[in-house]
Amino acid sequence: MFEILHEDDTGSRVGRLHTAHGNVETPFFMPVATQGTVKTLKFNEVSHLGFEAVISNAFVLYLRPGIDLIDEAGGLHEFMGWDRAVFTDSGGFQMLNPDFLEKTDQKGVTFRSPFDNSRHLLTPESCIEIQNRLGSDVAMVLDALVPFDSSRKMQEHAVERTSEWAGRCKAAHNNGRQLLFAITQGGTHQDLRERSAAELVEIGFDGYGIGGLSIGESKDEMHAVLSEQTAILPKSKPRYLMGVGSPAELVESISRGVDIFDSTFPTRNARHNEAYTFSGSMNLSRGRFRNHKSPIEEACGCFTCKNHTRAYIHHLLRNHEVTGLSLMTIHNLYFIQQLLKSVRDAIKNNCLTEFKEETLQKLKSEMAGKPGS
Ligand SMILES: [Zn+2]
Repeated sequence: MFEILHEDDTGSRVGRLHTAHGNVETPFFMPVATQGTVKTLKFNEVSHLGFEAVISNAFVLYLRPGIDLIDEAGGLHEFMGWDRAVFTDSGGFQMLNPDFLEKTDQKGVTFRSPFDNSRHLLTPESCIEIQNRLGSDVAMVLDALVPFDSSRKMQEHAVERTSEWAGRCKAAHNNGRQLLFAITQGGTHQDLRERSAAELVEIGFDGYGIGGLSIGESKDEMHAVLSEQTAILPKSKPRYLMGVGSPAELVESISRGVDIFDSTFPTRNARHNEAYTFSGSMNLSRGRFRNHKSPIEEACGCFTCKNHTRAYIHHLLRNHEVTGLSLMTIHNLYFIQQLLKSVRDAIKNNCLTEFKEETLQKLKSEMAGKPGS
């Protein structure tokens, strides 16, 4: 269930998503735990950072270690040792990965396991069964994803197949403790996006992912699709932009009415020595930080900044110490949490437009990069 606590006149909202493992205030960002772990962190650290939800990949976990093993452990929450909300992605996104995809037809998607080369047919029904057995709080339908530069005909076909599969997922879903979200497709074609959203809303879901974005299209194209999609998706349901997590793009998307995000971007950037700050990002492995006695960001309240200098982190990163990667991940995720808290406050105070302008200006050096994925 989803409730809106405050909506400003631009259509941005602060709300609350109720799940079987607690409530999560929206807009929120989920760290990615594809393999059942947020890379370099322990779950007490994820929890200490204030995260109330993470997202795992049902299909990857199905391949390894296998659903039987996780089911026997009491489900994914028990297996991982995390008692807050868990989203599971269906595996649809792996369709863009040539290491996984073999073929797609009406029945479903045939994947090759990159682990042992075994072949697996993922159907809408089996994707629901896998997520049901994992016991995630929010399951995603199996959608038909095609590369962003596919022909209009292919995009149209993807929309049709996505709707058909979504209907089959809904029919197969029978878990009252689990929410089921659909995913819109249609590339950058406004009419196809409208059709996709309308057909999925007609079937009826607990929330709507906006899929097929942040996979190579320009920022302007992504922003246009977001504005159009949030204008036609039901206000009473959460909107989830999958795969976006750069600070600037989070702010841009929330200002267009998006509520939920996940991305490997902040954690992967951390592991590539890139630290976020409110005055742009910095690469801590650069020689100029060798002697810096200050924390990554003076005003930051994270564990890393309260206890360590740039010089120390630089030293760890240069020596490939795992603690360095972990400290960087803690800082970047804390930064995202602070950013989202400020965004929620700005929405509640009806000043998101001013906040956005000011923040994007400050993040400018980060803005020079690509949209987060
Ligand atoms: Zn920090």
